[in-house]
This record gives sequence, structure tokens and C-alpha cells, in this order.
Amino acid sequence: MTEPVFQRLAVIGCGLIGGSIALAARERGAAASIAVAARKADTLERARQRGFAETYTHDAAEAVADADCVIICVPVGATGEVAAAIGPALKPGAIVSDAGSVKASVIALARPHLPETVHFIPAHPVAGTEQSGPDAAFAELFDGRWCIFTPEGDVDADALAKLTAFWERLGASVETMDAAHHDLVLAITSHVPHLIAYNIVSTANDLQTVTRSEVMKFAAGGFRDFTRIAASDPTMWRDVFLHNREAVLEMLGRFSEDLTALQRAIRWSDGDALFDLFTKTRAIRRGIIDAGQEADLPDFGRPHGAGD
Ligand code: NAP
Repeated sequence: MTEPVFQRLAVIGCGLIGGSIALAARERGAAASIAVAARKADTLERARQRGFAETYTHDAAEAVADADCVIICVPVGATGEVAAAIGPALKPGAIVSDAGSVKASVIALARPHLPETVHFIPAHPVAGTEQSGPDAAFAELFDGRWCIFTPEGDVDADALAKLTAFWERLGASVETMDAAHHDLVLAITSHVPHLIAYNIVSTANDLQTVTRSEVMKFAAGGFRDFTRIAASDPTMWRDVFLHNREAVLEMLGRFSEDLTALQRAIRWSDGDALFDLFTKTRAIRRGIIDAGQEADLPDFGRPHGAGD
């Protein structure tokens, strides 16, 4: 049996991401013992029933007291509050990390509350589903996915190596980049696509000329793929847009310009422009499949039986 990477891991917040980290760390022997903290009684009870950890508490400071690694897994907007609660209880030499989908803001919110004696390594596992809460967690979530670290300049090399080994044990590959760059990359690969999905589902819902039952009935025409993304957790995504405002607005500006160009191509019946663009985008999906980030199955592998 391989040695655990950490003797004691504390996971603060045990929804989809925190729960999956705890389950994967247990299953893969990445931590000798795990403590989880949650706010709500229901959340903690479900975490206990699903066997996330050895220790369960409502008190985040109690969870981190002996931990050599702490991972904050709460909505980005709650990061400062959690960092303030755990700051005084952190063990000198502990690694403090997180899972937030926005990085510059997490650093600004957490940094002032963390003592100089800990190693702060902000991180973002680029893995998830549209579901949330402890029931959505599963140990395989990070298999074959990326975890992006956004450390500040002076971080301890041993701490970085240990956190890398931890995420690799959970099945992920680690990439390191600057927090501002992360936020720009994720704005176009994740945040703007979510905004588009939220918007198209909301627009369809508001239409008077198409009945709601028709929207449901003919959803297989592409709409339902947007509804999956638009079913994502409202608290988490509100915080993503409030905390990655500049990068999202920058990418939205470019998106709007490109959309106007497409609108123009349709208006002027410019079939070549449409064909060229659709050919390019098809190649991008092929690239994602070739990079192992998507299965090569038609219609996301949905069953198409008789009568479908
Ligand atoms: P989630 O399933 O909704 O879980 C969030 C957890 O945070 C719950 O345990 C909740 O506890 C706790 N929490 C909520 N508000 C809190 C507050 N004000 N103070 C303390 N705890 C609070 O969310 P998630 O999907 O795991 O997301 C967690 C983090 O991972 C977010 O920062 C998100 O940006 C990031 N992330 C998400 C995904 C994704 O696809 N979902 C992917 C990568 C990264 P209670 O139930 O007790 O309130």
C-alpha cells in the first residue's frame, strides 16, 4: 500500500467538490485521516452517511486544528468568511488550498486571514457536474481531469510537490499558472458558456410564440444540452460572475462581436462564412476528444433505442 500524502486532511464544505475530494482521498489512500466541516446539519449528516471522513463538525476551526492540508470547498464568495474562521487555528507549516472556480478573487479574500506560517496554494480542479451537495459527490470525479494551481511567487517547493502528489493520487494532472491568466482562460472555457446556457434557457422560457410544452417536447434539437449546464448551482455561479467580472466582461465583448458577424452572415446569406466557421468549430470538438477530455460518442452517448 502506498503511503498517504497527508496524515490529516481537512475539507471545509462538503458538497460536490469537497465530498468528491474526501471520497477520492479515502478510496485512494491519499490521507491517513480526514475531517470535514459543513454549515447545515443536513449536509453534515449526509456526509456522515456517505462515509466522507473520520471526523465531522460544524466548526471549521476545529476541523483544521491538526491538519497538514486544508482544502476550502465553499462558494467563492464565502472564502473570506471561512479563511477568517480557520486562520487562527491553522497548524504552522500546513498547506492551505481551495477549489474555487475563480482565483484572483479567492486570493484577495483569503490571503489577509492566513498566517505567514502556512503555505497557501490556491487551486481549481477543472471537473464538475451540474449537480451540487453531498449526494452529488463521487470518487472518480477528478480522473483524467486537470487541477490548476495559481501559487503566488514565493511558495514553498516541498508544499507544492506534496499538493501535486495529492491531486495526482486523486487522478488529476496538475498545471500551474498565474491567477489572472487562469481567470481569463476559465472565463471563455467555462464562465461565458454557462452564461450563454443560462440566457438561452431563460429566453426560451420567456417566449410567448412557442409554448412551454413545445420547448420541452422538442428539446432534443440542441436545447436540452444547454439545460444541463443551466441547471448548475445558482449560488456557486452567482459568485463566479460577481468575482470574475472583468475577465467575463472582456470575453463577452468578444463573443458579442463574433455573434454580430454571424448574424450578418445569415442576413446576407453568406453560406461560405457560415460553412467555414462551422468547419473550424467541428475540428475544435475533435481536438477536445483527442485530448481525452470528452468521450467519442454521438449525442454524448445517450441511448437511442426504438421509438427514440
Ligand atoms: P456545493 O455542492 O454547493 O457545495 C458547497 C459547500 O459549501 C456545501 O458543503 C455548503 O455547506 C458550503 N457552504 C455554502 N455556503 C457557505 C458559507 N457561506 N460558509 C460556509 N460553507 C458554505 O458546491 P461545489 O460544486 O462543491 O463547489 C464548491 C467550490 O468548488 C466552489 O468554489 C466552486 O466554484 C468550485 N468548483 C465547482 C465545480 C462544479 O462544477 N460544481 C467545479 C470546480 C470547482 P452547507 O450545505 O452546509 O451550506
